[in-house]
Amino acid sequence: MRGAILYAPGDVRVETRDDPKIEKPADAVIRVVAACVCGSDLWPYRGIEAVAGPTPMGHEYVGIVEEVGADVSQIQPGQFVVGSFFASDNTCDICKAGYQSSCVHREYAGAGGAQADLLRVPLADGTLVATAERPDEDLIPSLLAASDVLGTGWFGAVAADVQPGKTVAVVGDGAVGLLAVLAAKQLGAERIIAMSRHADRQQLALDYGATDIVTERGDDGVTRIKDLTGGLGAHSVIEAVGTQESMMQAIRSTRPGGHVGYVGVAHGIQLPGEELFYSHVHLHGGPAPVRRFLPELVDLITNRTIDPGKVFDLTLPLGQAADGYRAMDERRAIKALLRP
Ligand SMILES: [Zn+2]
Repeated sequence: MRGAILYAPGDVRVETRDDPKIEKPADAVIRVVAACVCGSDLWPYRGIEAVAGPTPMGHEYVGIVEEVGADVSQIQPGQFVVGSFFASDNTCDICKAGYQSSCVHREYAGAGGAQADLLRVPLADGTLVATAERPDEDLIPSLLAASDVLGTGWFGAVAADVQPGKTVAVVGDGAVGLLAVLAAKQLGAERIIAMSRHADRQQLALDYGATDIVTERGDDGVTRIKDLTGGLGAHSVIEAVGTQESMMQAIRSTRPGGHVGYVGVAHGIQLPGEELFYSHVHLHGGPAPVRRFLPELVDLITNRTIDPGKVFDLTLPLGQAADGYRAMDERRAIKALLRP
């Protein structure tokens, strides 16, 4: 099969690799129908995270089940499935509480690299969600979005305690931030302030339900949010970047008693304890338990209530994966979809 390998910052190559096999009785092997490049793939691509030798890339996937191990009973060959970046048993106490991305048996589902023709998915029964039938072609980008960016934006909104009638601010205009806007709208937010300085992303945020756009960043962005909320700050703020500046912008944009849902992968963030103490802000976040939301999200997509696939503004054959990385790195694309 073919698969994308990151050799060094800026050096992604699609190469011929060994086909994955069933290694444990709970595994499935799927034929990837669509995969994509994640904002988090850009951290090692840019050299901000170390690249520890040649690394198979990709952890977002939809596909058709090829083969299942002896212990798999819920998932069958031929089904169209969506999975998340962490495999989970979906039965332990942590999973039952809705935190499948911290499952006591969790495994990284992207270990074999989803930017490939085939992928081994561990704990298939707990990890994969099958659609009732083979979805229409035009739904594939949206189902792929559910695998990570939609599920992550949705968790950000839930972690930020988005409620009907409330004001929500979203820090970050990547795919996760844009889909956090969509999630906030679905969860009933009355006012949704998207923070973005890119015209195409502002437009998509408005399409997804944003009511206001703030272009300022940092302290100026905080001032704008305060101006728009009677000096109080938003009830709920979703942080979808992962830097010191974005995290502090989120915390300072939240009113006392409000909630920050942080889903940008944190890099080098240091939180000031004394400021947090006096802020009265709730902080909750982390790697999204996408599996918690997947059945509902798949339903909302297949019944065409939501259209998260619009975040994919570049579609490439798998063999051109390197072009997808480059386009996202240079911010020419929001998110690149790869078709094997
Ligand atoms: Zn579990």
